[in-house]
Amino acid sequence: MGTVKPLRVLVVDDDKLDRIAVRRALSKVKNVIDISEAATFEEATSLLLEENYDCLLFDYRLGGKNGIELIQLIQNEGLSHAPIVMLSGIDDEFVMLNCLKEGAQDFLLKSEITTHSLVRAIRYAQERKQISLQMRFLAQHDMLTGLANRSLFIESVRQAIARSQRDNTYFAIMFIDVDNFKSVNDTLGHEAGDELLTTIADLIKSALRDNDVVGRLGGDEFSVLIEGVEKQGSLIKIAQQLVEAIREPITIQGKLIHTSISLGIATYPTCSSDVSALIKCADLAMYKAKQSGRNGYCFYSDDLQMLADEYVTLKTDLHKALKCKEFELYYQPQINVSDGTIAGVEALIRWNHPVRGMVSPDEFIPVAETVGLINDIGDWVIEEACQQLQRWLSEYKDLHLDLVVAINVSAYQLRQLSFKKNVFNTVKKYGLPFRQVELELTESAVIEDVERCATKLKDLSGKGIQVAIDDFGTGFSSFRHLQLLPLKTLKIDKIFIDEICTVQKSREIVKSMIMMAHALDMDVVAEGVETESQASLLKILGCDKLQGYYFSRPLKLQDMNRLLESPGTIAIIKDASEHLLTGDAAMKSTFSTNKKKGPFTILLVDDDDLDAKAIERSLRKQDDPPKLVRVVNGFQALEKLKEQSSAGSPYLVLLDINMPKMGGIEFLDAVRRDPNLHRSTVFVLTTSIEEKDKLSAYNYHVAGYIVKSDAGPDYCHLSKMIKHYQNTVSLLH
Ligand code: C2E
Ligand code: CA
Ligand code: CA
Repeated sequence: MGTVKPLRVLVVDDDKLDRIAVRRALSKVKNVIDISEAATFEEATSLLLEENYDCLLFDYRLGGKNGIELIQLIQNEGLSHAPIVMLSGIDDEFVMLNCLKEGAQDFLLKSEITTHSLVRAIRYAQERKQISLQMRFLAQHDMLTGLANRSLFIESVRQAIARSQRDNTYFAIMFIDVDNFKSVNDTLGHEAGDELLTTIADLIKSALRDNDVVGRLGGDEFSVLIEGVEKQGSLIKIAQQLVEAIREPITIQGKLIHTSISLGIATYPTCSSDVSALIKCADLAMYKAKQSGRNGYCFYSDDLQMLADEYVTLKTDLHKALKCKEFELYYQPQINVSDGTIAGVEALIRWNHPVRGMVSPDEFIPVAETVGLINDIGDWVIEEACQQLQRWLSEYKDLHLDLVVAINVSAYQLRQLSFKKNVFNTVKKYGLPFRQVELELTESAVIEDVERCATKLKDLSGKGIQVAIDDFGTGFSSFRHLQLLPLKTLKIDKIFIDEICTVQKSREIVKSMIMMAHALDMDVVAEGVETESQASLLKILGCDKLQGYYFSRPLKLQDMNRLLESPGTIAIIKDASEHLLTGDAAMKSTFSTNKKKGPFTILLVDDDDLDAKAIERSLRKQDDPPKLVRVVNGFQALEKLKEQSSAGSPYLVLLDINMPKMGGIEFLDAVRRDPNLHRSTVFVLTTSIEEKDKLSAYNYHVAGYIVKSDAGPDYCHLSKMIKHYQNTVSLLH
C-alpha cells in the first residue's frame, strides 16, 4: 500500500480562507491527497503548464471570470485533461448545472465542504471523466481496429482545411482499399478477415508518422490524412511505403497471406476545397489505381500523376545506371584568394542518361535518397574521386600539386554504419594523405542528429580528413552546432554571393559569416562566384577560397587536366584599388565610405599584465601595427569607448571576461544598452573554452573569440582577425 502515489489536486480560489478550508478538510487524508494552491487563473495556468494534476477544484467566481469561462479557457487552451470540481459559495443549482454541461464533472457548495464530501466529489469526478472519455472514444473510433471512424476522419479533414486556409499550406488525403479482401473473407472466414484488417491497420499506422490521422471508413476501406508535407516527392514516398509495407506476406491464423492495396491520393486545395468532394477525389484516384493493375497508387490530378510516373521511370533507370557506368564525375576548382592558385576541386556527379541526356544531380540525388540507392552511388563517388586524386598526384608530380578533393556526402550516407570505415579504407587504398580529402555536408544533413554526426565526424577528422559545411546560411544551424562539429571549412551559399555587390545586407551577412568562421578557426569558401567584382569584394572581406563560374564551370576530367597543366588561364582576382581605377560601379559604391583610414586603435580590456604584454607583442609583429590602449576593467573601458565614440571612428575591443570591478559580461551589457556604443566591435578573450561564457557573450553579438592558451594568445589567429577587421571596418561601417 505504501507505494501508492498520492492524488494530486490543484485548488484554485482567490479567497485565502476558502483555500484553507479545503486544505483543512483534506488534511485528514493528506497521505492520499497532495494539494497545490493557486490564487489566480494566471497562477493556475502556469502550474497546469508545468504539472499534471489528477483533479482540479475551481472556485466558481475567480477574479472577473465565472466558472463557465474558466472551464472553456482550460479546454480551449488544452491546459489540462483532469476532471474539474466546481466550488461555489452561492446556492445556485442552475449555474452549477451549466458548469456540468460545459465539462465540469461535479460541483460542491462551499458551505457543504467536509472531508467526506470533498473526497467523494473528487472520486466521482475522476470516474465520470473516465467514462466520458471512453464514451467519446467509442463514438469516434472503429471498434475493430481502433482507428478513427468516418465521422472523426471527416472532422479531422475539416480541421485540416481550416489550418491550411489560415497558414496557406496544403495537405493530402489517401484512400486505401485492400485488393483481395473479399476472397480472404470468403475462403478463411470472418474471423480471419477481421484479423487481416487489424493487421493492415497496424501496418498503415506504423508506416506513417504519429500525427498523421488514419481512419477506417468501412469494410476494407481505410483513409489517411497527411499534413505538413511540402514536396510532391515526399507524398510519393509515403504512398510507396504504404504499398510496400502491405505487399509483405502476412500470417493470419497460421497461414501466409499475400495481399496488396490500391491507394488514391487527392491534395487540398488542388483537387477540391470541400471535405466530401476531396474524399471522393481520393476514392476516384484509388479506383484508377485499381484499374491500372492494382498494387499501386494513383494521384487524382493529372499533373501530379505525370510527375509520379516520371519519378517511377527515373527510379527504374537509376537502378541500372551504376551497372551501366552511366555516372561521371566533373570537377570544379576552388581558388586560393591569397595567390590565385588552385587549392582543390569539388567532385560533382553527372548522370549521362541513355535517352534523356544529362540529368542534373539536383534531380536524381533526391530520388536516389528515397529509393535507397544513395549509399551505392555515394560509395562510387568516394572511390572515383580518391582514385582520381591519386592519379593527379602521381601524373603531375612535378607540378607539386597540393590538391584537396571535396566530396559531397548525403545525410543518408552519413547515417550508414559502415560509412567511416568505407572512407578510411578507400583513402588508404589509394595511399592518399587524409588531409587531402574533404567531405562536404549540408546543414540539414547534420542537424537531424548533431550529436551522433559529431562523434562520427570527429573520428574522421581525428585522422586528418577535412569536414566542410556546405550551402551555409540556407539551413538552420546555430553557433552551437558549429562548435560541436569538427569543421574545417565553411562554404557560404551562392544566394548570398549573388547579391554581395548590390545588397548591403547580404554583404553584412557574408562579412559576419567570415568573421565568425575565422573566430572558430575555419576556412571560408565562397560558392557561385560569377563576376570579377564579387571575387574582389570577397577578397577584401577576407574569404579564403573562391569557387564559381567566374573561374571555371565544373569540368570534365580531360578539361580539368588541361587546367591543372596550365593554371595561368584562371581568372585573376583584382585588388579593390584596380576596380576603383576602372570605375566599376558596384565597387565604387562599396568603397565610397572608405576614404579615411586614420591610425587604427585597439582597446584591450584585461586585468592580467602577462596576457596584455603577450598581446602587445603579437600586435607589434604586424606590418602596420595598430595603436593599443589598455584598461583593466569594464568601467575604464566604457569611459574610453565614450571618449572615442565622440571622436568618430569606432574601436576594436579585445575583452577579457573575468575582471575585478566590472567584468566582461557586465561591460557587454552596458555597451548594448548605449546606442552610441553599439558600433564597437568586440572580440572576447577566453582562457578556457567556457561554453557558458561563450553562449552568453554571443547573445551580445560579439564578433568572435580569441583563445588565450597556456602558450599565450593565438598570435596568428589574432593578427589574421585584426587585419581582416582593419580591411572591413572602414569599408562597411
Ligand atoms: P552543391 O554541393 O552546392 O554544388 C554546387 C553547385 O553549384 C553545382 O551544381 C555547381 O555546378 C553549381 N555552381 C558552381 N559554381 C556556380 C556558379 O558560379 N554559378 C552557378 N549558377 N552555379 C554554380 P551541380 O553540379 O548541378 O550540383 C548540384 C547539387 O547536387 C550539389 O550542390 C550537391 O548538393 C549535389 N551533388 C552533386 N554531386 C554530388 C555527389 O556526388 N553526391 C551527393 N550526395 N550530392 C551531389
Ligand atoms: Ca558541395
Ligand atoms: Ca554548396
